[in-house]
Amino acid sequence: MHNCLYCLSANNSFSSVEHIYPESMGNKDAILERGVVCDKCNNGVLSELDNELINFMPIALARSLNSIPNKEGKYPAVKLANVHLKTKRPRYVIMDFMSKSRKDFIPQEKGFKFTAHGNKMDNDRTKILARSLCKIGLGMLHFTHGAVVSLNSRYDKIRRFIVGEENLSGSYLIRKSGIIEKIREVETFHWFFEKSTLFICTIYGIRIAFDLEMNINLRAYHNENDCIYYEFN
Ligand SMILES: [Zn+2]
Repeated sequence: MHNCLYCLSANNSFSSVEHIYPESMGNKDAILERGVVCDKCNNGVLSELDNELINFMPIALARSLNSIPNKEGKYPAVKLANVHLKTKRPRYVIMDFMSKSRKDFIPQEKGFKFTAHGNKMDNDRTKILARSLCKIGLGMLHFTHGAVVSLNSRYDKIRRFIVGEENLSGSYLIRKSGIIEKIREVETFHWFFEKSTLFICTIYGIRIAFDLEMNINLRAYHNENDCIYYEFN
């Protein structure tokens, strides 16, 4: 008998593997074997959280501009508020600016500069992105340390938050500038503290810091020049 990593159910069916971060983001290695995550979580709430992550503007933009294909080998089409991006082949991206947004595209002596507008990060969106980050964090804990760590009761509160059964307040930080040499990969590091499990995830060059237990307020670590502070309640 085993319990689902996310909802702790032992009675649901467990017929598939779970991708710690989405398969459509090119994840072929970071996979939880069959029996770890129940089908109800896998096909329901976790896939909704994956979609939220994929469509988070900086990540969507990084995937498009760097021609990172999805699991079918197709390039993502990205529709932002002021521009639509379509990748025709590697390094060939069509950018279609809405007529009112021509000023957002500025040719430079070498190349160009542009401004992309994503959906406004209101409280709900900030929170749902936090849940998708925590989903990755808890999955990585299981992947690296196994059930003894990942099923520890210290993570029960965050389990309920991930599946939408408990409301939490919390925060995370996203670095303003991308990390060019990490543009084609996803990597995570984590550190254990007494009441927090700090994660640094780099997803296609976008670096995000969060406490998997949502106990540290990251405002104290916020440097305005370097990163954006997000909080939700
Ligand atoms: Zn479950």
